Amino acid sequence: MTSTDQQPFLSVRDLKVHFSTEGGLVKAVDGLSFDLAEGRTLGIVGESGSGKSVTNLAILGLHDRARTAVGGEILLDGKELLTATERELERLRGNTMAMIFQDALASLSPFHTIGKQIGETYRKHTGASRSEARARAVEMLRRVGIPQPDLRVDDYPHQFSGGMRQRAMIAMALVCDPELLIADEPTTALDVTVQAQIVDLLKDLQQESGTAIVFITHDLGVIADVADDVLVMYGGRCVERGTKSEVLRTPQHPYTWGLLGSMPTLDGPVDVPLTPIPGLPPSLIDPPSGCRFHPRCAFAEKVPGRRCATDSPPLEITGGGRGAACHLTAAQRREFFADYATPQPH
Ligand code: SF4
Repeated sequence: MTSTDQQPFLSVRDLKVHFSTEGGLVKAVDGLSFDLAEGRTLGIVGESGSGKSVTNLAILGLHDRARTAVGGEILLDGKELLTATERELERLRGNTMAMIFQDALASLSPFHTIGKQIGETYRKHTGASRSEARARAVEMLRRVGIPQPDLRVDDYPHQFSGGMRQRAMIAMALVCDPELLIADEPTTALDVTVQAQIVDLLKDLQQESGTAIVFITHDLGVIADVADDVLVMYGGRCVERGTKSEVLRTPQHPYTWGLLGSMPTLDGPVDVPLTPIPGLPPSLIDPPSGCRFHPRCAFAEKVPGRRCATDSPPLEITGGGRGAACHLTAAQRREFFADYATPQPH
């Protein structure tokens, strides 16, 4: 999805990721499509269990292949990833596509220095010598704002603060100048100040190199800061998508309204209570019939004939990639969102 005329660098079509568990077949992603152009950031937002992380594991080819059935198409610069061999995927990972996870400590080995870990990734993909790899590691640590990088390159992960470890992981992800970066909740474990620094760092690095970024988060505040386009996931499906401004300013789906209503804002009135979305995310083994959001939706009864409980609303895409999957009419959405968005003080 993009609002520009650029060709998509990443194109996902009707992606389905299903895996078996003792409890039954989990349909973690159930028919997801989007495009992402070079130099743009797609924010994927949703509660845990909405399918956002599973989507990205499938793009990277890191899902459990023995237990997982993946269908649809994932095209990276025209190459189909779902039929790629493990060897081809390994060459692409770190080189053309890279990832940053939430927990840098779990992703970095405690037994090797930061410099060795960044340098080894570089050597593996470029065949550089040890001294070239070390020089590249120092350069990358400088690029991500680590002070005294020529000294800190020999530190172990436990000698870095949480924010510095996250920067080191970004350095490792970007050491081969990937064209696609997948960042899965990369700032969730960090305090607000460091979170803002990491987001700024990613934006700067993207401007320098034109990397396409998929940024996964449950936090619409981070989305507001980092994304060009937004895709809202619920129960393994996209329920709304559009540019950041479209989704945040004129959201069309009651679930997005709920996410916005449960988010604190710095400039909002302090006496307006936050409204969490009632109920729990749906089971992905036995999802609700009709609209998967209907058991939690305050507007389901506004749709005639109880269709929300029986008919799955299609994601209707208009020009520019804007769309929402909801049975409410456009006029109803305007009316209900206007009511919903009007703050009600205590
Ligand atoms: Fe709510 Fe019905 Fe729209 Fe689903 S289709 S979001 S239940 S109004």
